[in-house]
Amino acid sequence: MPCEVKPHFVILYGSQKGQAKSIAEGIAEEAEGHGLVAELSCLNQTEKYNLEKENAPVVFIVSTTGDGEPPDNTLQFVRHIKKKSLAPDHYKHLCYALLALGDTNYANFCNCGKTIDRRLQELGAKQFYMTGYADDGVGLEVVVDPWLEGLWKAIKEALSKMASDQTAHLKGVLEDSAKETPDLSLLDVQLNLLSLTDDQNCGSVKSTVGTDSKNAPAASSSVSAIQTAVSDRRPASPAGGVGMSSESGYVARISASAAETQTRDTGGSHVLLEGSLTCSLPPLSESSLNVPALPPPYLDVSLEDVVSVGQIDGPLNKETLHEVPLSRAVQLTRQDSVKITLLLELDISAYPEIVYQPGDSFDVFCPNNASEVDKMLHRLGLEDKKNHCVRVSLKKDTKKKGAHVPPYIPQNISLIYLLTWCLEIRSVPKKAFLRALVEHTGDGVQRRRLQELCSKQGAADYNQYVRDPSLSILELLTAFPSCSPPLTLLIEHLPKLQSRPYSAASSHLRHPGKLHFVFNVVQLAACSGRPAGSRGLCTGWLFDLINPSLVFPRKAESSSSPALPKIYMSLRANCSFRPPADLSVPFVMVGPGTGVAPFIGFLQQREKERQENPEAGFGETWLFFGCRHRDRDYLFREELEGFESNGTLSHLKVCFSRDDQEEGTTLAVRPRYVQHNLLLHSQRITDILLKQNGYLYVCGDAKNMAKDVNDTLLEMIKTEIQVDQLEAMKRLAKLREEKRYLQDIWG
Ligand code: FAD
Repeated sequence: MPCEVKPHFVILYGSQKGQAKSIAEGIAEEAEGHGLVAELSCLNQTEKYNLEKENAPVVFIVSTTGDGEPPDNTLQFVRHIKKKSLAPDHYKHLCYALLALGDTNYANFCNCGKTIDRRLQELGAKQFYMTGYADDGVGLEVVVDPWLEGLWKAIKEALSKMASDQTAHLKGVLEDSAKETPDLSLLDVQLNLLSLTDDQNCGSVKSTVGTDSKNAPAASSSVSAIQTAVSDRRPASPAGGVGMSSESGYVARISASAAETQTRDTGGSHVLLEGSLTCSLPPLSESSLNVPALPPPYLDVSLEDVVSVGQIDGPLNKETLHEVPLSRAVQLTRQDSVKITLLLELDISAYPEIVYQPGDSFDVFCPNNASEVDKMLHRLGLEDKKNHCVRVSLKKDTKKKGAHVPPYIPQNISLIYLLTWCLEIRSVPKKAFLRALVEHTGDGVQRRRLQELCSKQGAADYNQYVRDPSLSILELLTAFPSCSPPLTLLIEHLPKLQSRPYSAASSHLRHPGKLHFVFNVVQLAACSGRPAGSRGLCTGWLFDLINPSLVFPRKAESSSSPALPKIYMSLRANCSFRPPADLSVPFVMVGPGTGVAPFIGFLQQREKERQENPEAGFGETWLFFGCRHRDRDYLFREELEGFESNGTLSHLKVCFSRDDQEEGTTLAVRPRYVQHNLLLHSQRITDILLKQNGYLYVCGDAKNMAKDVNDTLLEMIKTEIQVDQLEAMKRLAKLREEKRYLQDIWG
């Protein structure tokens, strides 16, 4: 009797913010539909997998965080595979595929994935499917979707190959040893594998007949082959509701009802509508849709009216945080500046354990906006239950692989605490969430639009109306009034409320017992779905928190207001973004706008060091700063000019992107942005980096500035030492490796 063993494969993920995890979980959920068993683990769950002995295909989904670092839950794994003591054939038995997530706005794109990939190959592992590099800067799905589409075929081929290799190996062993009884169970499993692959191939060939090739995406002919048209008027049943097997997560093909979405009946006459969050235009509105599989529910949530429900104030794990008073607030920009930039001072004198160095950053824990929490309660119809205790447990019969109650939802908390301190209710809903919302939307037009936004065909609309404007779930629900999701769905799909990091903008040598930081009050522009615009969560909260009487524009007087507001914070680990330990080494700082923050700390420290060691030889210091207008948003102007005049700062190079012609320069050569100023000093800067062992620090906006500076550095190296692009890239990569080109960027 052949034994009924389903072929299995392993999925391992390393995730910082949950994106890699949710992709890994999606693959695990899809596996059964492909006749496969997936074993899903996080890379730090070493008790659940054993790569040293694994002979099934392994799929890695890993993201990259910070300055090219592995996610926290992947550090140990990366450390392990980097060990020099591992033999070059350590993983020769291993067959793997890897999907790397990253963001090209940051340095070291997909560095963690690349490191794992390289190291596995150095240790003899074989790739069974090309590595995918997904870029959050342009939308992960651009790479993730086609990569997932091809993955299943690749896994099946890998399984077949591994099976036939094993058969051949076994045959060889049998012949060699002339044994009489082969291992039947092994052969049975292999037969099972091969027939499974054959069956599925036949299935897709057969069903390709009759596919509408015009609407089918090029890369997925076999995908569209198994899709069936379902009306958007009929609520989709679980997993597409048509009882078919799924390919690559897209299980239902939804036919369009163009008239519904393109025009709206206005008493006899039809009015043509513009495309928006809630309204699509042809061809999308007329297109058949490939929508993702419905994520299986995995939580049971109930609300209980109990007396002893947990307190409502303060973040999770607040016993591990510091509650620190704000002792000063200074507005650094003039009233007519485009952005409001504030400097806040934390009084840490009561906390001797908070020891920070210039270059360090710390986390601020802020609650969700109270009025948004109220609106959410209202939207869920749960206002009268806001003080009820939330009981969350795992659904017993859930089909979700690796399901667990999110660790950031503690026991015995009230509903209002959950929405205020645990869930990121501002987070941008992922496509899986939109897919789940479809099931709770009554109106056919709205349902169709939600299907479009999560479909493959609607990817551009999703980016334009949801992802790029950072639309929140509340904004989405407001735009889709017939959508009434249960609380359970929110808990299943909303991530943990994240702390916001800020860079220290002071040195404790200059300001003992104090910690400064600087930020712009983020303004989210008005858009379809957010008619009035809004402020960033943390920066808006900080802005509201400070007593306006504490704010003295451009004055550094301290205030002794009796009721100083407090915030929860904790220091973050930093190992490299520090001024050079050797004081004689020159260094260059590039920090436009609020990116200047850590360099204020660097320079305050350097100033003190110079005062204390007047005889010592100090390396040159350069600062490239930029802002819009000299008179409106030149942050720390007096302090920076003071550093330059007392010699702490050897060269202060400032440019103003919106001021008219500067004195002594013609418009043609006037540097507009920091990179233009770098170019003007190309030879000196390249010398510092390539000949004098100097350091370069870049801080601030990740979206444009850091990239432009990097490109400019390449140009400078090419010109100054007369090398080609490749060689220039190698030189920069070497600087990074030596931790002499360091970035602290955000945005
Ligand atoms: P959110 O509500 O989180 O933002 C909503 C949306 O606004 C985001 O999705 C994004 O699209 C956009 N957004 C986020 N940040 C910005 C921004 N800075 N400008 C424009 N749009 C933005 N910020 C500082 O101002 N000063 C610092 O010293 C500083 N140091 C940091 C250090 C590190 C290591 C990191 C990772 C980030 C740092 N940041 C700093 C960024 C900071 O943590 C927040 O992201 C920022 O203040 C916005 O938070 P928010 O809650 O107000 O906005």
